Amino acid sequence: MTTILDVERIEKSFGGVRAVQGVSFSIEAGEMLALIGPNGAGKSTCFNMLNGQLRPDAGRVRLLGQDITGLAPRRVWRLGVGRTFQITATFGSMTVRENVQVALLSHAHRLLRFWRPAPEHFADEADALLARVGMAEQAERACGVLAYGDLKRVELAIALANAPRLLLMDEPTAGMAPRERVALMALTRDIAREQGIAVLFTEHDMDVVFAQADRIIVLDRGRLIAEGSPAAVRANPEVQAVYLGA
Ligand code: ADP
Ligand code: MG
Repeated sequence: MTTILDVERIEKSFGGVRAVQGVSFSIEAGEMLALIGPNGAGKSTCFNMLNGQLRPDAGRVRLLGQDITGLAPRRVWRLGVGRTFQITATFGSMTVRENVQVALLSHAHRLLRFWRPAPEHFADEADALLARVGMAEQAERACGVLAYGDLKRVELAIALANAPRLLLMDEPTAGMAPRERVALMALTRDIAREQGIAVLFTEHDMDVVFAQADRIIVLDRGRLIAEGSPAAVRANPEVQAVYLGA
């Protein structure tokens, strides 16, 4: 197994609020790790410390063994940490294919600074990504007219265009219908396994979490209170008390 991400005792406070307190975990290549917990538990703060948007007050973040703690978001992204956004990050007037081409161009530029081909250079590669996420038939449509669930698939293709080693998805299925949620996360899981991508995601729908996560970590008031397989976490009395409202 290859450890992609290793998080060691990260901490973050906002004034007097200890949002994240000494949280440690790791994620293997191809693994889907769900981060769950009630509102205000510190999930988004954790994400933001992993993608460089927030600098931890203490602790270490390592990507494939390299210390990335406190690096700027752009540098973290260059090292292979991708993310999907809650608010859509596509250009609405451009077609689906063009959006993916632009993402592929920016990835190529990240690797080879002085190479600036036209976006059309990436048409075939864009179509291959779109086929993988089930959007080949809609390649010519403008992103602005897509159904919400389809737009989420395009965003997944855009995230994949950067060949991430780690993919961070903070509430990726917010606003989606239950059936679409399962489909998007099942697709993500298949691609993660196929390409050895480590995925960290948050999700409120426990059916999705229990069905799609390989492993779950549970935060409560900034602390990690449980970690394990979906079955183990579901059976954990502390988790049931704090989170599932039992
Ligand atoms: P979650 O994503 O699990 O709902 P957050 O990480 O967003 O939780 O928030 C954890 C705690 O930190 C909450 O008490 C929240 O109010 C606080 N918090 C988060 N971001 C900020 C910020 N930028 N400034 C002040 N307090 C914040
Ligand atoms: Mg959040």
